Amino acid sequence: MDLLDTLTAKGLRGETPTREEALAVLATTDDDLLDVVAAAGRVRRRWFGRRVKLNYLVNLKSGLCPEDCSYCSQRLGSKAEILKYTWLKPGQAAEAAKAGVSGGAKRVCLVASGRGPTDRDIDRVTDTVAAIKEADPAVEVCACLGLLSDNQAERLKAAGVDAYNHNLNTSEGTYGDIATTHTYADRVDTVQKAHGAGLSACSGLIAGMGESDDDLVDVVFALRELGSDSVPVNFLIPFEGTPLAKEWNLTPQRCLRILAMVRFVNPDTEVRIAGGREVHLRSLQPLGLHIANSIFLGDYLTSEGQAGQADLDMIRDAGFEVEGMGEGTLPRHRADIAAQASGGCGAAAPAAGGCGSGGGCGPCGGHAHGEAATGPEAAATEPADSEPAGADEARTDLVRVRRRGAGTELAPNA
Ligand code: SF4
Repeated sequence: MDLLDTLTAKGLRGETPTREEALAVLATTDDDLLDVVAAAGRVRRRWFGRRVKLNYLVNLKSGLCPEDCSYCSQRLGSKAEILKYTWLKPGQAAEAAKAGVSGGAKRVCLVASGRGPTDRDIDRVTDTVAAIKEADPAVEVCACLGLLSDNQAERLKAAGVDAYNHNLNTSEGTYGDIATTHTYADRVDTVQKAHGAGLSACSGLIAGMGESDDDLVDVVFALRELGSDSVPVNFLIPFEGTPLAKEWNLTPQRCLRILAMVRFVNPDTEVRIAGGREVHLRSLQPLGLHIANSIFLGDYLTSEGQAGQADLDMIRDAGFEVEGMGEGTLPRHRADIAAQASGGCGAAAPAAGGCGSGGGCGPCGGHAHGEAATGPEAAATEPADSEPAGADEARTDLVRVRRRGAGTELAPNA
């Protein structure tokens, strides 16, 4: 297939495809799926070998957000029966982080719901980072606290935070359809603030909200343009009690095509399968590892993932290995660019870097929409672009609200 030969050659050189080529990936058929995965897999192995970076989420503050992001179970007016609690104490957060690190995670993602942190919140996170790094100085810490005000990124950097997550989520053109209490430009501004302060920028998207292929390509190219070191790809988990509860638009095959498109556009950037992995990729999760080089271990912010041990077994069975604490994530040339962009000392610095998380504004873990399913024959012969909304059956049976770990008395999943 000429398209895949071209994309592979470009990816191996670290070059970005054209917008038309990216759209063409999304329009491939199920007959071509394994060829698409194999091509993206060659690019992935060129820059990241067979390593899988594990990241671990700690929800520092859950629910009760005044923002109205329609995909989020923590939003204003959400009826989702998620855990709701205010800030964890530093010791509690460090304890939760320890579970993830013991399970193999090299990055801890500290997330708090809300529009953005107050200066007092930055103090809380500072104390939490100190507690985590006291236990293990090698752990990468990514903060995800919402929109940043002036000088807050610098304070986080000084506190030892390595990366900052703030997702663009969708295209600029459709952003107003998913949130009205802040803008796409606000989000871009925060990613730039983080990057400018020397934090590794982690910014990604959510697929499955009813967006078009053009929207997906728009946001992925925007992330490349922004210089995101890590791109979390969330697949909408349609939480009951949120506006997008009926949006079941994804199939496992569609998810793989999206991941492949993200990989081709970001050949040498950390691509992370984030929230919705278990719900939407389902038994095809191992194929996702051939494209992405990073996943979350265990649970998400408000939903439960598969058992942490199942994540580790999947990685091993698929022939991959967990990236070690001392190993770099990004290829050397990308780490150098990240370090230069951040004034020479970014989180991506030492040997690689990369970025992490998702969070209060990332892998909230779910909503989905669900309508009629497309028959298997039709799915196998029609271009992905023609998949009707509701191509996937609603799998509400796979959506489990998190009831363990941070904010509960129960042991975390790691
Ligand atoms: S994504 Fe973040 S800002 Fe938006 S509603 Fe959820 S917690 Fe609040």
